Amino acid sequence: MADDSRKVSYGTGINLELKGKIALVTGSSSGLGMEIAKYIARAGATVAIHYHSEKLQAEQLAGEINSNGGKAAVFGGDVSNRAEVEAIFTSIDRQLGSVDILVNNAGIDGKRELCGDDNPDDWERVIAINLLGPYYCAREAVKRMKKSGHGVIINITSVHEFVPWSGYTAYSSAKAGLSMFTKTLAQEVSESGIRVVAVAPGAIKTPINKDVWGNPETYKDLLTKIAMPRMGETSDIAQAVTFLASDMASYITGTTLVVDGGMLIYPAFKHGG
Ligand code: NAD
Repeated sequence: MADDSRKVSYGTGINLELKGKIALVTGSSSGLGMEIAKYIARAGATVAIHYHSEKLQAEQLAGEINSNGGKAAVFGGDVSNRAEVEAIFTSIDRQLGSVDILVNNAGIDGKRELCGDDNPDDWERVIAINLLGPYYCAREAVKRMKKSGHGVIINITSVHEFVPWSGYTAYSSAKAGLSMFTKTLAQEVSESGIRVVAVAPGAIKTPINKDVWGNPETYKDLLTKIAMPRMGETSDIAQAVTFLASDMASYITGTTLVVDGGMLIYPAFKHGG
């Protein structure tokens, strides 16, 4: 007998819907986080917009989502502070419900400093925000997701999870550490219905790298490092995150999706050599 369990209707669209889900996007008052929050809200999730210092932008974003048929609320706090992270999750529990999707996006790249001539306080700060922060948030999310029996955690790493970056040992180490955290946590929680994945952006136009794309000389140099002839847009990352958050990615866990326009395919070799 023919197996018709996989019968589909063609031309009816593909389901990236996140309706009924509650998502926390850390650092969503600017850059990638803001775009990710918009996309996830467009897919139907209720979004917890999180900010550190830019309360006004966070409130404006929530206002935009709420007045266009979506649902969002604003939560503030420092992700490198465990007590503040716990308080954020408790407030989300009360106002929205238990988090189903966590996007660990908040991060800084820090100052360019060479090891030995650097200030260890700067190193510690980058590690605290980029590695401890995602751990504190994931820890709170996992407690809740284990109870509900499902969940997705998406960690925003970077191509510097793979590529060394002189002057940024803290950033590269934090992102490589976050990658291994992703894999190890995925292994721990795979039987609880929780997926843990990473997205590694290449060079995406946001405030974090304005000093590079804002200067014609450094911008030209940056383009030589990307196989495609452009920097990434925030939507390039938001689309990948929305896919990974959805059930279309239900068999993907413990891995990194690189979204870099081909930075990691050695564009310097494009013309031979
Ligand atoms: P951004 O500066 O616009 O956003 C960073 C966000 O992190 C801001 O909302 C900021 O408020 C928040 N944040 C900083 N310190 C915090 C703290 N202590 N507690 C809570 N939130 C804090 O930059 P972006 O480019 O949107 O970066 C977002 C993420 O993407 C970062 O993790 C970054 O490392 C990563 N990333 C960006 C690029 C890129 O090219 N833009 C490339 C690779 C990875």
